[in-house]
Amino acid sequence: MMDKNKPIAVIGAGTMGRGIVQTLAQSGFKVMMHDALPAAMESATASITKMLNRAVEKGKMEKADAEAAVGRITSVNTLSDIGRPQLIIEAATENPDLKIRILKSLDPLVESGGIIATNTSSISVTKLGAVMSDPTRFIGMHFFNPVPLMKLVEVVRGLETSDATVQETCELAVTLGKTPLKVNDHPGFVSNRVLMPMINEAVFTLQDGVADAETIDGVMKMGMNHPMGPLALADLIGTDVCLFILEVLHRDLGEDRYRPCPLLRKMVDAGRLGKKTKRGFYSYE
Ligand code: NAD
Repeated sequence: MMDKNKPIAVIGAGTMGRGIVQTLAQSGFKVMMHDALPAAMESATASITKMLNRAVEKGKMEKADAEAAVGRITSVNTLSDIGRPQLIIEAATENPDLKIRILKSLDPLVESGGIIATNTSSISVTKLGAVMSDPTRFIGMHFFNPVPLMKLVEVVRGLETSDATVQETCELAVTLGKTPLKVNDHPGFVSNRVLMPMINEAVFTLQDGVADAETIDGVMKMGMNHPMGPLALADLIGTDVCLFILEVLHRDLGEDRYRPCPLLRKMVDAGRLGKKTKRGFYSYE
């Protein structure tokens, strides 16, 4: 059982890291936040404060609770200053070499018997765990964006992850108000293994001229009751991120059905990465 009097560290203060930091702090945990870029931590603190203030204005949270949550967050510029946390959640950029480098430096920093988790959406948890001194204490803790709102944590068990690590991780997810669903490490886990082929097929459907983007999304929204169409979702995730994950599925599962659609590749080549570049399958100007 995680102890609220002991810190949890989050590495990477981007989109996901800041959401994880906020969720932990709101649930009463002391959080040590580290990012290679001090500006990312400043922006994370500002956005967390803004989100909590908005919750206070809407009457969803007491002012004192919001202030206490912000007060539980400490930003550290040097990785070794995270102390000896009981858990470290790695949420840095999705790059295998970078993650391996970060995880190796995190290995001696966690409390003895503590857990190191990765929020990766596509890299093998088993492969990342293999660089740790104790892979039984390594696990995938896959949160969804926006973290404070999304209920699911996909708990990804690597080949060497122990039962105790899985159980502690699931218990923490419940303490954070989330629902943990346990899956085994395999390319794309469950979430991206099922989602990305659907997005890819929507891009093939567009490429084949079956219908325009609005119509394809409209069919999926109204016919299948999806809250968002697959092409709008690709824009939200980032077409580059979708391509990267499809390449992992195609390479690691070795089946043609995961082949990224040429139109998706063309979009990425053109810099149409979706909402973040204001242009993807839709325009956000
Ligand atoms: P992001 O680009 O918004 O943030 C990544 C952060 O990592 C940046 O602030 C960057 O400065 C920092 N970073 C890079 N190198 C570092 C280092 N050496 N030490 C410390 N920090 C470093 O990315 P994101 O969308 O937050 O994704 C983070 C992770 O979460 C990735 O593994 C991604 O696959 C996963 N993920 C993303 C989503 C999503 O919807 N964005 C959903 C689930 C999981």
